[in-house]
Amino acid sequence: MVSPKDALLVAYPGRFTLVTATSWVQVRRDLLAARIGPGADWPLAVSSGCAATGVRLHGAAVSRDATHALRRLDAGLGTACEQCGATLVFERFDGVPAAVRCTGCAPRSAVGTRWCR
Ligand SMILES: [Zn+2]
Repeated sequence: MVSPKDALLVAYPGRFTLVTATSWVQVRRDLLAARIGPGADWPLAVSSGCAATGVRLHGAAVSRDATHALRRLDAGLGTACEQCGATLVFERFDGVPAAVRCTGCAPRSAVGTRWCR
């Protein structure tokens, strides 16, 4: 199994050093972990609501998506689209921390939204 850090170094050559890749993985893990479970800080995650459903408060969905993204990250799969396998455009993580699909595969209504994948 590829470590999340090694997956990052391979997927985005030249963008990271060993140290910055390790930091990025840790920050992303923390960001996702903060959205999981009953104690999660959901208000932080629902500022703009879900574009697909229009629902502003969707903590359970946020938690589910974050859990899924965290599992893929830990499995070394966090840089690849789960549908087509393409490397995710790096900037996608800034807009959608729980992204697991590329913008071509994600539901059109969810592209560019902050918490829906
Ligand atoms: Zn894709």
